[in-house]
Amino acid sequence: MAHRGAHFQRDYSKRQVNLRALIDMDGVLCDFEAYFLEKFKEKYPDEPFIAVEDRDGFYIRDQYEKLKPGLNDKCSSIWNAKAFFLNIPVIPGAVEAAKEMQEIEGVDVFICTSPVKAYKHCLKEKYQWVEKHMGKQWLDRILLVKDKTMVNGHLLIDDRPGISGLNPYPSWDHILFTQSHNSRMKNGQRRLENWTDGSWKDLIDEYKKRVA
Ligand SMILES: [Mg+2]
Repeated sequence: MAHRGAHFQRDYSKRQVNLRALIDMDGVLCDFEAYFLEKFKEKYPDEPFIAVEDRDGFYIRDQYEKLKPGLNDKCSSIWNAKAFFLNIPVIPGAVEAAKEMQEIEGVDVFICTSPVKAYKHCLKEKYQWVEKHMGKQWLDRILLVKDKTMVNGHLLIDDRPGISGLNPYPSWDHILFTQSHNSRMKNGQRRLENWTDGSWKDLIDEYKKRVA
């Protein structure tokens, strides 16, 4: 019987290592915040709201609840509604950048996204969104996962600060994608400010060299 530990002795030194880049959806590929506000104002025209540039902190519900008690449930009614996730607009340059990144030799790109608990529409619509904006072949590149620390990759581009989970030592470096809600945070964490100034290419170049 083969020793269980035998696979640890395999020689991986000649294997080509591709850079595995994980890209979050909401707040990185899709403009969740802007679309939320649009739909919130539409559904609750008499309620106070928070402009996107005044959003502070990751959780929309928390900031709205502080603004007026009872608004938190009205917030979740927006993203739990049918067609919300389907119709979120693309963040400028995001789809082009992801596609171009995937074209780079030695780079594999995956979409790494956490569905909301009320998954009825969200799960299906996230797939539909990817198919609609990125094409059918990208359906094989979706990782739907609540705990991103369990996912293997070299870098994770995500707008959520302080990503944690069961794995205390995730394989990826978290690159914080700048959104209003995290723009006031100054913890020195490496950021990607946008998809349009080309800086993502330097980031990928740098990480490609690291894994080569
Ligand atoms: Mg996000």
